[in-house]
Amino acid sequence: MTVTRPRILVVGAGFAGVGCVRRLERKLSTDEAEITLVTPSSYQLYLPLLPQVASGVLTPQSIALSLRRSRKYRTRIIPGGAIGVDLAAKVCVIRTITDEIVNEPYDYIVLAPGSITRTFDIPGLTDHAYGMKTLAEAAYIRDHVISQLDLADASDDPDERAARLQFVVVGGGYAGTETAACLQQLTHNAAKRYPRLDPRLIRWHLIDIAPKLMPELGDKLGRDAQEILRRRGIDISLGVSIAKAGPDEVTFTDGRVIPTHTLIWTAGVVASPLIGTLGAETVRGRLAVTAEMCLPRRDGVFALGDAAAVPDRAKDEEGAICPPTAQHAMRQAKRVADNVIANLRGQSMRPYEHKDLGLVVDLGGRDAVSKPLGVELKGLPALVVARGYHWSALRTNVAKTRVFTNWMLNAVAGDDFVRTGFQARRPTKLKDFEFSDAYLTPEQLRERVEGTGGKAQ
Ligand SMILES: Cc1cc2nc3c(=O)[nH]c(=O)nc-3n(C[C@H](O)[C@H](O)[C@H](O)COP(=O)(O)OP(=O)(O)OC[C@H]3O[C@@H](n4cnc5c(N)ncnc54)[C@H](O)[C@@H]3O)c2cc1C
Repeated sequence: MTVTRPRILVVGAGFAGVGCVRRLERKLSTDEAEITLVTPSSYQLYLPLLPQVASGVLTPQSIALSLRRSRKYRTRIIPGGAIGVDLAAKVCVIRTITDEIVNEPYDYIVLAPGSITRTFDIPGLTDHAYGMKTLAEAAYIRDHVISQLDLADASDDPDERAARLQFVVVGGGYAGTETAACLQQLTHNAAKRYPRLDPRLIRWHLIDIAPKLMPELGDKLGRDAQEILRRRGIDISLGVSIAKAGPDEVTFTDGRVIPTHTLIWTAGVVASPLIGTLGAETVRGRLAVTAEMCLPRRDGVFALGDAAAVPDRAKDEEGAICPPTAQHAMRQAKRVADNVIANLRGQSMRPYEHKDLGLVVDLGGRDAVSKPLGVELKGLPALVVARGYHWSALRTNVAKTRVFTNWMLNAVAGDDFVRTGFQARRPTKLKDFEFSDAYLTPEQLRERVEGTGGKAQ
C-alpha cells in the first residue's frame, strides 16, 4: 500500500519562497510532506545588490544564490512559472521553461511570486524603458550604458554625442536612487578611458513625482543623500515625471525634452500578475491575507513577500500593511513555514510581527546613507553598515565569499568597463524581461483545469 504524503507547493524562489522551503526542509521529516518549488530560474536573486551588478562592482553570479546548495536540500524543483491557480480545484497551472503547460495539484500552496515593475499608461514607456528587477536587466543595462560611451566616442556628430551621454532614471525610492548613483559612478570612472569624450557631457537625471527622495530616510538624511548626489553631478528633479518616451528622447512633465537613449524606470512595484488569476480579495494589488499569512476561508493557501498584503502589526495605524522589502519577506518566510507545519500537524498558527530595522542605501564609491534602528549615518560608517548588513543577509557562505572578494577586487583593481555583447541585437525592454503577459485569464484557467479534470499532466 502506498501512503500519499501531503503535497506542499511553493511558488517563487525569492527571499520569501526560498526562506520558506529551507525551513520546511529543516523542520519536516521526509514522510511528513512532499515539498515542490516552482521557479523559472535556478537561483535566488539577492535583489538589493542588483545596482552593484549594473555598475560592475559585483559579477552577476555573485548575487545569484544556488537553490541546490544546502545540506538538507530535498525539494523537487519544477523549472517554470505558475500562470494560474485554481483555488477551488487546488491546482496550479505551470508553464515550464520549454513552454509546456502542466497542472500541479497541491494540498498546501505558498504563494511567493514577488512583484514586477509598476508602469503607467505613459506613451512609449513600456517600449523604451529598462527596468531594474532581474539579473538579466542589470547585466543588460551595464552593457547598454557602456555601449553609449563607445558610440559617443566613435561619433563626430555633437548631437548624437550629447544624446548618447545623457541618462534618465525615474524613481527616487532606494532602488532608483541606488541605480542612478551606482551607474553614475560607472560612467564617471569610465570617462578616463575615453579621452576623446568631454566628461562634462555625461549627465545623469534622477526624477520623481514625489517631493522628496527616499522619504523613509527622514528629512535630514534624505537631504544629505540629495546633497551627495548633486555634488556628484546628478541632476535631481522632484515633482516631475515622464510625459512620453521615444527611442531617442524623453519628455518630462515639466516640458523639458531630454535627448537620450537610456530611460531606466524604477517607479515602484506591483504584485505579480499571478495574484490576479486567483479571483481573491486584494489590497492595492497584493493578495489580502491574515496576520498568519493565510487566505481567509480557503484551506491551505498561504501568501507572503511582495505579492501579499500582510498586516503590519508593529505599526499602530489601522489597516497598515508591511512594505515590500526583503527585510520583511525573509522574516515572513520563517513564520509562514512554521504556520504551514502547524496546520499540517493540527496545531495553532502564530501571527507575523516584525519591527522595521531601518534602511541602508549604497550610493557607489564611498558614499552611503543608512538609518539602522533609527540612527542616522552617512559616509564611511553608513557604507560599512550597508555592506555589512547585505553581506550577513546573503544566505550561503559561498555567496558571502564571492561578494566579499568582488568588493575587494573592485576596490583594488577598479573596473575594465567591458561590454560583453550578450543579447545586444534582441528586443530587450521592460516588457521583454518580466514576462508580465504570460498569465492565464480566469476563463482560460477554468477551461484548462476543467478540461484536464484538474489532474497532474
Ligand atoms: C534594485 C532593488 C533594490 C532593493 N533594495 C532593497 C533593500 O536594500 N532592502 C530591502 O529590504 N529590500 C530591497 N528591495 C526589495 C526586495 O528585493 C523585495 O522586497 C524582495 O525581493 C521581495 O521578496 P519576494 O520573495 O517577495 O520576491 P522576490 O525576491 O522578487 O522573489 C520572487 C521570485 O518569484 C519568481 N517568480 C515570479 N513570478 C513567478 C511565477 N509566476 N511562478 C513562479 N515563480 C515566479 C521570481 O523569479 C523570483 O525568483 C530592493 C529591490 C530592488 C528591485
